[in-house]
Amino acid sequence: MSRGFLYNTSGWPHVLTSRLPCDQHYTFIMGNIAFIGIGSNVGDKIRNCGQATDEISRCKEITVVAQSSLYRTEPIGYTQQDWFINCVIEIGTSLTAYELLNILGDIELSMGRRRILKWGPRIIDLDILFFNNEIIRCEGLTIPHPEVQDRAFVLIPLCEIARDYVHPLLKKSIAQLVTDLGSGTGIEKV
Ligand code: AMP
Repeated sequence: MSRGFLYNTSGWPHVLTSRLPCDQHYTFIMGNIAFIGIGSNVGDKIRNCGQATDEISRCKEITVVAQSSLYRTEPIGYTQQDWFINCVIEIGTSLTAYELLNILGDIELSMGRRRILKWGPRIIDLDILFFNNEIIRCEGLTIPHPEVQDRAFVLIPLCEIARDYVHPLLKKSIAQLVTDLGSGTGIEKV
């Protein structure tokens, strides 16, 4: 699926209705856009990422408008674990960032996610990377996600669907952040 937004000079997205499926036009764009990072390294990882995307798209307040390729990625932090499958999706939503976080948490739980080890194996991990151009720093929610700029497994898929999106704190495009990362080791397209 190709991305459905263009960005004006302030980085704010405009919807390209011509890229939307069927007869869905502006009515389905619900005010906010967000980018969600999806990862899994337990069980059928590709299936888990697909199921998470399906569960997200089943939420009536959310429309998935773009999806990156899947990537096989090396674990960071706790390295004695299997490689991950990662991808990034772009959504339109009428939910607030907090409501979205709760829904993603419910999906993680419903798929069997248990928080045992901070950097440890997980059946599914759903992170809000960006929410519009908002900067949120609260107990339990930090947006932009604080590690976006350090993670090839986030930036490289994100760059496929949002290369011109400007990080609201770092004031750099996703394409620039990928360049800053240097060589992308430990990540390969599936
Ligand atoms: P993780 O182990 O990476 O899934 O961490 C999940 C925890 O991070 C949850 O308790 C969230 O409340 C918190 N959190 C903070 N900011 C975010 C964000 N932008 N997206 C997802 N979870 C977040």
